[in-house]
Amino acid sequence: MTDQVIDKLRAVLGEALVLEPSRLDAVREDKSGFRSAAAPLAVVEARSAEDVAAVLRIATETRTPVVPRGAGTGLAGGAIGDAGSIVLSLRGMDRILEVDVADEVAVVEPGILNGDLNAALREQGLWWAPDPASKAISTVGGNIATNAGGILCAKYGVTREAVLALTVVLADGRTIEVGHRTVKGVTGYDLAALLIGSEGTLGVIVRATLKLRRLPTGDVATLGAYFPSVRAAAAASSAITAAGLRPAALELLDAASLAAIEAYLAGEAGTVPAATRGGAYLLVQTDGDGAGVEAAEALGILLEHGGDAELTTDPEEGERLLRIRRSAHPAFERLGRVLIEDVAVPRSRLVDMFDAVERIAARHGIAIPTIAHAGDGNLHPNLVLPPGGEQDGTVPDVVWLAAGELFEAALALGGTLTGEHGVGLLKRRWLERELGPDQYELQRRIKAAFDPLGILNPGKVFP
Ligand SMILES: Cc1cc2nc3c(=O)[nH]c(=O)nc-3n(C[C@H](O)[C@H](O)[C@H](O)COP(=O)(O)OP(=O)(O)OC[C@H]3O[C@@H](n4cnc5c(N)ncnc54)[C@H](O)[C@@H]3O)c2cc1C
Repeated sequence: MTDQVIDKLRAVLGEALVLEPSRLDAVREDKSGFRSAAAPLAVVEARSAEDVAAVLRIATETRTPVVPRGAGTGLAGGAIGDAGSIVLSLRGMDRILEVDVADEVAVVEPGILNGDLNAALREQGLWWAPDPASKAISTVGGNIATNAGGILCAKYGVTREAVLALTVVLADGRTIEVGHRTVKGVTGYDLAALLIGSEGTLGVIVRATLKLRRLPTGDVATLGAYFPSVRAAAAASSAITAAGLRPAALELLDAASLAAIEAYLAGEAGTVPAATRGGAYLLVQTDGDGAGVEAAEALGILLEHGGDAELTTDPEEGERLLRIRRSAHPAFERLGRVLIEDVAVPRSRLVDMFDAVERIAARHGIAIPTIAHAGDGNLHPNLVLPPGGEQDGTVPDVVWLAAGELFEAALALGGTLTGEHGVGLLKRRWLERELGPDQYELQRRIKAAFDPLGILNPGKVFP
């Protein structure tokens, strides 16, 4: 059967079919730290929507699993290819097909990198707002398939709010258009919203009509504040949102994160955070016409909550304060293998969630440096794995135990398992716990309606 699938793919796709062992090996992992048990059957580097449709027709005919893949920067294991599957890479489909300045719309192929798209849009005074920290290395299609968020989404919204319409190839190779190019549109069920965040389990996105914004004008003000404890910083952050302020960025780092970042940045002139100034760091950035007034109000709240704060409108100084936050991922990588978690809670419960992280870390003897997109209550506890398991990507039971307790704590606070990274392989065992049996069953039936043979990214999202 394997040979038959390869022969069919080769006949239709020619050079787009990749069988080199090194390439097959590379798609066994993403950035989650997971590695599949075996290499996939083949990788197809799609060049067009027709290539995608051809792959899915062959997959349907031969009952072969297909794993859609963008840039492979996912943190949930969603794009990992396993034995017997075809990994369908969209990365090569990276054209900007249209930019309409008057309608503030762009039509793009899914493989374009977020950063490349925004570099092109900037020349026309436009901007696609989703800004995952991985924007320089992740694709727009991947951002849509995971409904990615980022530092700016508390003010500017997550990916779902920045997509108008999609062209999607279904599991059997048919192509549908969902959503509307118009600003408004309520005809039929909102399948575009359903497809966004579906992690490659319902269809393959081959084209997207994106809702753009004008580049923000006016001032930008940046505040950095050190607090004696993460509780105090979280309380200040909740007070800022409760006061009705909408900073573009509101980011929180705990003491363990600050220590890792300090070690990472050591020696870089002017950028070393003085971790000695406090046990937590809150970064606030305001932009647009009311930036100065909002920043002044935020400063008052930071000081009231015991913050040691500085405010700047100087772009270079602002960049220095932001760099502290941006260094978190590379700093954590230096600590060893890390399981990056992604729970979200109501903003008013941030303090309680930080308390829970601290308790769970102490109970299991695991370091869990935690950063948060505090403006939308989204925490990334980074569980540092004990040495071992590097080769096969396994995660020790104690770490899963701690992760499970983190999820329980988030749910108990009215939160969710994943704010932006998705379920993938990582959180599928907890999916039913959050959805409940009735909704879980309904979601399974939706999956079956789109993909009756179960060939689209099987094993991802649903166990
Ligand atoms: C350093 C770092 C920082 C990060 N920061 C953030 C952050 O701030 N916010 C955030 O949300 N994420 C973040 N991520 C996670 C990741 O970058 C995002 O999930 C991103 O959206 C994935 O894009 P990708 O192109 O790499 O997709 P992949 O990893 O290739 O795929 C992700 C999922 O989307 C599916 N998929 C991809 N393309 C398509 C398509 N065209 N059609 C259908 N399904 C498709 C895949 O099957 C898979 O399930 C970060 C990752 C890293 C490594």
